[in-house]
Amino acid sequence: MTAPESLLKRIAWHEAAHAFIAAYHGFQLLAVRIDGPENQEGSIWKVAPRKPSAVFIQSQSQRELAVHAAGEVAESMWFAPPYDRGVGLDRNSCWRFALEMKGSPTDINQAHRLDIADWPKLACGRQLRETIDAEKAAVRKILERHKTTIEPIANRLLEKQRVWGDEVLEIIEQIKAIQIQASEAKAIRKEAK
Ligand SMILES: [Zn+2]
Repeated sequence: MTAPESLLKRIAWHEAAHAFIAAYHGFQLLAVRIDGPENQEGSIWKVAPRKPSAVFIQSQSQRELAVHAAGEVAESMWFAPPYDRGVGLDRNSCWRFALEMKGSPTDINQAHRLDIADWPKLACGRQLRETIDAEKAAVRKILERHKTTIEPIANRLLEKQRVWGDEVLEIIEQIKAIQIQASEAKAIRKEAK
């Protein structure tokens, strides 16, 4: 069975968003992959930053949370519902990291039992829910601002199915360079007026 192209595209954007947010928050990105049409899934491999970033003052757990939230957030921004591809998994990961942040062992047990159906009605998690929602809103803003960088990463994934971390960073650097040039050109034009 072959997945429709639109589904593969969706998977590619989902993983590209995970990868971009990982790089953005200083993780060492090893590789990103989407599977063939049969399995309809993808993943990223990353190594957590050793030391806190000077730029991003978020805690390690918050940064993990951002990376995990990115796939679902990207789908909700750029694709039609439902967003259930991998979302259960992403949400559970989000909860796990949020709970770690809170440091409550009781809640961690609850997290293991979470599934998509439980997500909206968990009364115990209002504070956590707020933490997660805030992080998702932040991720949304970053993704929105960097859509032009995420697109070539997604396209590369569609083309090759497996992209090494170095290659992703190269794409990001290239786009950054183009953007800097463009903003410089704009500034120069402004000065010239
Ligand atoms: Zn995901």
